[in-house]
Amino acid sequence: MEDIHDSRQNSIAFAEDDGARDKKPTRIAVVRCETVSEVCPGVACFKAFNHRKQSFKPYDQDAEIIGYFTCGGCPGRRVSRLVDSLKKHGLDVVHLSSCMKLSGNYPPCPHYDEIRKNIESKGIEVVDGTHH
Ligand code: SF4
Repeated sequence: MEDIHDSRQNSIAFAEDDGARDKKPTRIAVVRCETVSEVCPGVACFKAFNHRKQSFKPYDQDAEIIGYFTCGGCPGRRVSRLVDSLKKHGLDVVHLSSCMKLSGNYPPCPHYDEIRKNIESKGIEVVDGTHH
């Protein structure tokens, strides 16, 4: 039986850098709230990125989203592990999704600062927000 780790590596092998490009594109990941993800498929985040609006305005057309994942539930248990994983794929910057700072139907994330500091401690830039 094929080892599950080998299987995963094989299935994402195409995403490895082939070194064909002169300049490495900026590689972005978005972390979103697990609770809010029950009602949000992420359309506004992707629209903002695709049109380089709001928090994604500074990026050129070569920039790529290489990861888009939920925090894994309070207190954000999945974030550190997946950021480590994405660093191997050239991750430059993490956006903490706008849903983490909502203040209407959902309370703002009480773990926001810890999550931010954890990512920054790995040498990755953190940007507040995605689409508002
Ligand atoms: S840690 Fe924050 S972002 Fe994650 S589920 Fe809890 S409130 Fe949402």
